[in-house]
Amino acid sequence: MEAFGDNFGPGPCAVCTTRNKRCSRNCEFAAYFPSELQDEFESASELFGTQNIIRMMRRARVGQRSMLALCILMEGVAWIHDPVQGGFGMMRRLLWEIKLREAYLCELKAIIKSEK
Ligand SMILES: [Zn+2]
Repeated sequence: MEAFGDNFGPGPCAVCTTRNKRCSRNCEFAAYFPSELQDEFESASELFGTQNIIRMMRRARVGQRSMLALCILMEGVAWIHDPVQGGFGMMRRLLWEIKLREAYLCELKAIIKSEK
């Protein structure tokens, strides 16, 4: 999986903005937390803490950093939408939706079968 690529936004990355640091052209976080994802990063930062995010990103292998960054951002957003259950609540809702769709699909298959 690729990071957000080289064509990320012109502004400083979300990590440098949050830390009030100057974002250099070869900033280690710019590919993973571009300026367009500032709001998402701030949510994640409230949840995990900026220093912990930096620590996690530095400890992860290079090939795993994109997935880690996405997970960090998604978890931050999940806690905004569901401050009680966070990502777990999001997962429960999605599982419920899958079950609902499966039940509907079964119903449709039964109707189709009865009309043959
Ligand atoms: Zn930066």
